[in-house]
Amino acid sequence: MLERPLHTARLIHEKTLSLAAQTKHLVFSIEDLDRFEFLPGQFVSMVVPREGKSITRAYSIASAPRKNEIDICLNRVQDGYFSNFLCDMKEGDTVHLHGPHGLFVPKNPFRDSILVATGTGIAPIRGFVQWLFAERSRNEGREVYLVYGTRHAPQIYYGDYFSLIAHDFPNFHYIVTLSRAPEDWKGARGYVQEQVRAIVESRADRGASMDAYICGLNLMVSATRKMLKEELGWDRKQIAYERYD
Ligand SMILES: Cc1cc2nc3c(=O)[nH]c(=O)nc-3n(C[C@H](O)[C@H](O)[C@H](O)COP(=O)(O)OP(=O)(O)OC[C@H]3O[C@@H](n4cnc5c(N)ncnc54)[C@H](O)[C@@H]3O)c2cc1C
Repeated sequence: MLERPLHTARLIHEKTLSLAAQTKHLVFSIEDLDRFEFLPGQFVSMVVPREGKSITRAYSIASAPRKNEIDICLNRVQDGYFSNFLCDMKEGDTVHLHGPHGLFVPKNPFRDSILVATGTGIAPIRGFVQWLFAERSRNEGREVYLVYGTRHAPQIYYGDYFSLIAHDFPNFHYIVTLSRAPEDWKGARGYVQEQVRAIVESRADRGASMDAYICGLNLMVSATRKMLKEELGWDRKQIAYERYD
């Protein structure tokens, strides 16, 4: 087996994104590196010892490359060990990790794209958007649609950031859809698939020259892939995805 260098990551900042969903934004600094190199969308494998063994879980990097720091966005999973361990960490605590890993990254060349996420599946997508819109040449001439779905408005993570990008860049389209919207909600309603379908059907090429990047729990990822392939005629190579379960 290949030796993987294990890094020490120190929690330098933590913030609760949703009390109801128990979701946190964590910022780690990789102590033994000056700079942590990765591609937007990749993940790290975090490792903790437990009862003489080690437990490993994957977490998407929720930021673009930035010095030796990474952002993580995660929610507590009931009865889960690792998510609770991370959510209980205090600033200054450390955890080990290896990586970066994964192929859920912007394609080269980057074409018109639909980014689809639910819940903490927004993590790698935030990395994509930070990276894409940091330099004009990375997004110029491309239309980028972000379709984010959740049940209730308080779980719209990083909404102010994405709204700001949409304000500054006319080629970034931010669509939030709530599956349990209150009456006074002015945005989209229902599941992400319906918004993805509307985007594809609004285009003359029906998405033939686009790619989709989908991240979240398997139920949503599978349903969206199935719709793109079977109903909208997309090729599987146009669809990149990351499943959390
Ligand atoms: C490539 C990859 C990247 C990931 N990135 C993230 C991330 O950025 N943020 C994040 O919150 N999670 C992420 N996950 C999920 C994460 O690795 C863990 O599975 C999750 O934190 C639960 O771990 P646990 O030990 O607490 O619970 P476990 O006992 O391992 O899990 C219990 C069950 O919870 C379900 N589950 C897994 N993830 C979630 C979730 N996010 N919400 C609700 N139920 C879930 C699964 O069905 C799992 O079987 C990622 C998974 C993969 C494979």
